[in-house]
Amino acid sequence: MPQLTMGTARSRVSSLLEPSDPMAGVFSGRWVESVGAETIISLSPIDGLPLGRVSAASPSDYEEVMAQARESAQVWAGVPAPVRGQAVLQIAEELRRHKSELGLLVSLEVGKTIVEGLGEVQEMIDIGHFAAGLSRQLYGLTMPSERPEHRIQEQWHPLGAIGVITAFNFPSAVWSWNAFIAAVVGDVVIWKPSSEAPLTAVAVTRIASRVMEDLGHPQVFFLAAGGGQVVGDRMLDDRRLPLVSFTGSIPTGRWVAERVAGRSGRSLLELGGNNGAVVSEKADLELAVRGVAFGALATAGQRCTSTRRLIAQEGIYGAFVDRLTTVYRSVKVGNPLDPDVLVGPLINQQAVEGYLAAVTQAQEQGGRLRCGGKVAAAAGAPGGFYVEPTIIEAQPDMPIVQEETFAPILYTMPYHTLEHAVAIHNAVPQGLSSAIFTTDLREAEHFLSAQGSDCGLVNVNTGTAGAEIGGAFGGEKETGGGRESGSDAWKAYARRQTASINFGSALPLAQGVSFEV
Ligand code: NAD
Repeated sequence: MPQLTMGTARSRVSSLLEPSDPMAGVFSGRWVESVGAETIISLSPIDGLPLGRVSAASPSDYEEVMAQARESAQVWAGVPAPVRGQAVLQIAEELRRHKSELGLLVSLEVGKTIVEGLGEVQEMIDIGHFAAGLSRQLYGLTMPSERPEHRIQEQWHPLGAIGVITAFNFPSAVWSWNAFIAAVVGDVVIWKPSSEAPLTAVAVTRIASRVMEDLGHPQVFFLAAGGGQVVGDRMLDDRRLPLVSFTGSIPTGRWVAERVAGRSGRSLLELGGNNGAVVSEKADLELAVRGVAFGALATAGQRCTSTRRLIAQEGIYGAFVDRLTTVYRSVKVGNPLDPDVLVGPLINQQAVEGYLAAVTQAQEQGGRLRCGGKVAAAAGAPGGFYVEPTIIEAQPDMPIVQEETFAPILYTMPYHTLEHAVAIHNAVPQGLSSAIFTTDLREAEHFLSAQGSDCGLVNVNTGTAGAEIGGAFGGEKETGGGRESGSDAWKAYARRQTASINFGSALPLAQGVSFEV
């Protein structure tokens, strides 16, 4: 496949975007051309140049979105769930029709490789299909009543309008995990995307809104672009949003949790990870090298599930780190529109500075740099934000190893016994994803057991990154405890109601209480 030029790539995605400049970044059932509000400039991390401009929501735009969302929520809650599921399915199919341009837009806007950009759109399609099936399976339990001629039943009702605030690194997939599931449950969604990726949000909302209009449904997928401290904080404080689903960094997530709890709202938190891969002497080492390299280098280390810590057993530690270092040195870093490139840019200059600071701190704290550690010269992509894939031999208790640095830095450390590996693995404040590479059943099962990994996601002989949509996704400890996507994660978007029904003519009371009047 020949490499696309930036010019060709831009013209291929132009059909997804409004011709106006700035583009409207607010959808309230109509595209609102905000006057006097902030304008967000979307820069491509590939070359550091502007890709487009989007107008943010002013306070009155936000109110318009909220008013329309609440009106829609009333109607949408009355639409049968399987009909809601069919609407989501149609959106998924429309996304499939636009997959190549949308995937390219994701690559241009956040710097993913072409295949990863396409994978992000595929994830939206997959969750759309999952949600459509789920729409016929929003089961509530029934319980036997202790009273004669009574029945107890759980029902799951929509919450109404909910807020979804997303991070830059999955600029559309994370929205769909939330929005498609919430929509089949019967909620309507107000999306505040990352200001690093507003164009993807505009393009996706245009597609979803057109499908809803063509089907004659009320609008369900609203958009309010804008800064975290402007539109974001307004959502956190807004009692009309019973749930705010937030994906982002731990410090911001902590703020979100406090603000939303302060008004007795619910937050669903998907925050940072500090994911470890344990490689045993009994591992298939070639498979482990590939699993660790993909986990650490995909999306230039900017996945919440990126492998940040390699914990390898003493007997193979040296050789494994050597082998990985060779792989790191051979990986092509550069313009992600080049099909041979595996590591694209970081999102912005601030991220490059965060990377350089972490490399310096790691060495000051006793780490030994094995490879990388510098800004990378990316051929054919001047002006972008490229860094070298980096391996640092470290000790588990170094302060920098306890942090998530959103960049391709892998800290490596040896272990003696599996219990030692688990202790190192669990000794960080985050708890998102984890992996063990071993062919020994006992080791694998120990890592999966309650005495093993303390994370929300655990993998055996596959890396920490690259979860499928069918399972519930999320993490423990400072990662926030939220679960999204598959399994029964849908329950977070619903209110549970316990219904007690008396179909007899007497009025027996629970717990044998009598009340004769
Ligand atoms: P970020 O915390 O900087 O921003 C996330 C979102 O929060 C953005 O939309 C931003 O505008 C908004 N925001 C900022 N300040 C706010 C405020 N005061 N009130 C409300 N909203 C506010 O994160 P980022 O740099 O975009 O994304 C990277 C982080 O996200 C990493 O830590 C990564 O691990 C995490 N992440 C987690 C998951 C997960 O599922 N656990 C998935 C993707 C990303």
